[in-house]
Amino acid sequence: MHSGLVHSLDFDRDGKTLAHLSIPFSIDRSPYFHVKVPICLIRNGEGPSVLLMAGNHGDEYEGELSLARLIRKLDPALIKGRVTILPMANAPAVMAAKRCSPLDGGNLNRAFPGDPAGTPTSRLAHFLESDLFARHDIVFDLHSGGTSMEHLPTALVERNADPERHQRGVALMKSLGMPYGFVADNGAASPTSMGAARRAGAIGISGEFGGGGTATVDSMAITARAIDNLLLGVGVIEEPVLASSTGVLETRLLSLSRHSQGIYTTRRGWFEPAARLGEHVAAGQLAGWYHDLERLDDAEEALHFAEAGIVISRRLHTMCEAGDCLMQVAEPVSA
Ligand SMILES: [Zn+2]
Repeated sequence: MHSGLVHSLDFDRDGKTLAHLSIPFSIDRSPYFHVKVPICLIRNGEGPSVLLMAGNHGDEYEGELSLARLIRKLDPALIKGRVTILPMANAPAVMAAKRCSPLDGGNLNRAFPGDPAGTPTSRLAHFLESDLFARHDIVFDLHSGGTSMEHLPTALVERNADPERHQRGVALMKSLGMPYGFVADNGAASPTSMGAARRAGAIGISGEFGGGGTATVDSMAITARAIDNLLLGVGVIEEPVLASSTGVLETRLLSLSRHSQGIYTTRRGWFEPAARLGEHVAAGQLAGWYHDLERLDDAEEALHFAEAGIVISRRLHTMCEAGDCLMQVAEPVSA
C-alpha cells in the first residue's frame, strides 16, 4: 500500500526500543519495498524529552556515528525522561553516501513541512514535523559540511518569533560548548528541520560539526561533547555518556545574513584557496585564485573577500561550475 509512513512504536513504553519507520515505495527490484529508517526510543518515566537526529544529509558522519554509539551506550536506567534517536534520518542518502536521497533526489532539510502523499523524503518530512517533533521538548539535528565542504564547528538556531522561546534556544545552543554559534533568520516558512521543530512547538537546535565526508578525532570529540552537554544541561543524564571531557567553551556568536559574505562562481574553473578555515580576513583580502585548465594561456583570476569576518566554510572539490559557493565569511557579533 502506498500511504504515508507507518510504524508500530509505543512512545510511552519505558526501556530501550530499536525499531524502524517504514515508508512504502514501490520500485523495480521490489514492488512492495519499504524505505526503512532506524529509530531508537529510550524512556525512563516522566521528564524532559529530547529528539536527537543525524543523517538529515547522508554524507555528514560526525552525528551519524555519535548517535549510533549513543544508541548502544545509553542505559535507560540512567536517564530521566525520554531520548529519541534517529541516527540516519534520510536513510537512503546515508546508504548512498550522498547529501540527498537517490530514490527521489530529496534534500530532507529543504523538504519540510512535507507531504503525506509525496515522495519518500517528503513523506518523512511530513511525519517528522506533524508527529515526531511535536512529541519532544527539544529537537537537536546534527549536520556537517558533507563531502563537498569543510565547515568550522558551529552551533545554530533559527530565530523564533516568540522572544522567550528564542532565548531558550540560544541558551541551549550555548550549552553545547561549541566554539561558534549562529542565529539564522530563515523565516516562518523555513523548509529546514529547525523551521519544522519551531512549527511543531519544540525548541530546535542544530550545528555543523566538521565536514569533508569524513570524521576526525577532533570533530568526533566536539560532537560527543555537544550531545553530552545538551543531555546533561536539560537533566536527562547525570554523567557524560559519549565524551571523555565535557568542558564548555564560550560560544562566539556569528552572523551570516548576506549572500555577499560568500564567494560564488559564475563559470567553470578550478579554485585554489589563499585563506584557511577559521582565519580572520579583511574586506578586499585575497581569497584565492580561480584557474581555467581549459585556457592555459589565461592567467588565474584573483578572487577577493567582499566582506570581513571569519572564514567558516570552504568548498573542498577543486573543480567548480557556475553557481558553486567557494567560501563563506561570517561576521562576529556581540550577544
Ligand atoms: Zn547537513
